[in-house]
Amino acid sequence: MNKVVVLTGAGISQESGIRTFRGEDGLWEGYAVEDVATPQAFKINPDLVLEFYNQRRAALLDKNIVPNAAHIALCEFESKFSGEFVLITQNIDNLHERAGSKNILHMHGELLKVRSEETGEVFEWKEDLHRKSHPQNREDLVGTMRPHIVWFGEAPFEMITIEHALRDCDLFVAIGTSGVVYPAAGLVHSTPKHCRRVEINLEQTPVSPHFHEKRQGRASSEVPQFFQEILNSL
Ligand code: NAD
Repeated sequence: MNKVVVLTGAGISQESGIRTFRGEDGLWEGYAVEDVATPQAFKINPDLVLEFYNQRRAALLDKNIVPNAAHIALCEFESKFSGEFVLITQNIDNLHERAGSKNILHMHGELLKVRSEETGEVFEWKEDLHRKSHPQNREDLVGTMRPHIVWFGEAPFEMITIEHALRDCDLFVAIGTSGVVYPAAGLVHSTPKHCRRVEINLEQTPVSPHFHEKRQGRASSEVPQFFQEILNSL
């Protein structure tokens, strides 16, 4: 086995205390997605959108939010595996980085970064973001800053690198992702014929039939176990 590609979703961070995307009521932390996670919403009600991400950012920075056994197992696998390892995440949190993972592609952006809509410049950001916020000594950027997040209707980041990584992978593992948000849900179709495809999730998803194997259970127990099995088999 030469190349392993992993795709993670909100389910891997659930046991760290970060809520997943859609609750049973179809809302994300009590908000309708179209009100807080689209470019149209940002145009119509920027204060609400900024406040939504301010709350998510503050929650992520809570000292009780730490990587769990699944994040740590992926980092350990990456450090022990002699082949190529690519971690694609839909998550906007930084728990993979904090666990020590190296080769991470954040296809939906990052909560702890902001960007100028005018210049495209990206900045690290841990504070609340308001309409008049600007990075230090950059008064020229007042009124142009937004969360560095891919909203619904926008093109995900890193797609060329992601498609390239998938093209010749030998093992593809999707962890804690609902298989309903595209194009992430369709990445399984970009893996080559010989690739072993494994899904780790609490439940069946609409894309489950496209995987060879299903590990049903909590990421914190299934992920360490699965990747230990892979290391043992090499
Ligand atoms: P989703 O919330 O739509 O689905 C989560 C999936 O994880 C579900 O299929 C669920 O069965 C599974 N799951 C929940 N807890 C689990 C656990 N402990 N172990 C294993 N599986 C578990 O998530 P998605 O598919 O990633 O799509 C969500 C979108 O919302 C993404 O675009 C993402 O950027 C954003 N989001 C990110 C975060 C985060 O960064 N942590 C949190 C919420 C939403």
